[in-house]
Amino acid sequence: MLITELKAREALMPLVEGKKVFIINCEGCKEVHFPGKEAREFQKELADAGCVTGTITTDYICNPENMELRLQNHMEEIKAADAVLVFSCGVGVQTIANYLEDKKVYAGCDTYPLPGFQGVTPLEYKCDQCGECYLNLTGGICPITACSKSLVNGQCGGSKDGMCEVDNTMECGWERIYRRLAQLGRLDVLKCPTQIRNFATDDEI
Ligand code: SF4
Ligand code: SF4
Repeated sequence: MLITELKAREALMPLVEGKKVFIINCEGCKEVHFPGKEAREFQKELADAGCVTGTITTDYICNPENMELRLQNHMEEIKAADAVLVFSCGVGVQTIANYLEDKKVYAGCDTYPLPGFQGVTPLEYKCDQCGECYLNLTGGICPITACSKSLVNGQCGGSKDGMCEVDNTMECGWERIYRRLAQLGRLDVLKCPTQIRNFATDDEI
């Protein structure tokens, strides 16, 4: 089991202010606590400001096949949006970012650990429930699980031919993040001041 908590307003507003967003809520997984009231209040504020092109509230967005079918009916609303804002655990956000890879996809929540499982489908990406979701800075690719050293401030410099120096069977997570940010025109994110990781949020609740 795990718990999701709405990200701080100061973290979300710069991503969405003055922009059009498409909203996805995942409420299906009973293993995840969803911050429904707080998320609805924030989303109403965005809708009242005329920023929302569409919303879907569904379940198990971590199931790629089902999620793709559901999104197919909303592609025009997604096209009209500058970004897609996802309220789910980190696996759900990565599933959407993987599918809409040329769209900015942002996490509305942080994901914290509780004992139990996460996600319904075995996927090549994971969320380690670090409690301070970095997906908004990394193009929707989790630096905690896609990098062998869980680096959050960029590449270690040891990759060879694009592969990780710790595990040469896996692609360097930070090279993937760099390519995704370049594809999204967001390389400026890498010029942000160092993001210090707060390991206190990594403890089980
Ligand atoms: S950065 Fe990764 S581990 Fe941390 S909450 Fe986001 S998806 Fe999960
Ligand atoms: S080579 Fe890439 S994935 Fe491997 S530890 Fe270094 S930055 Fe992380």
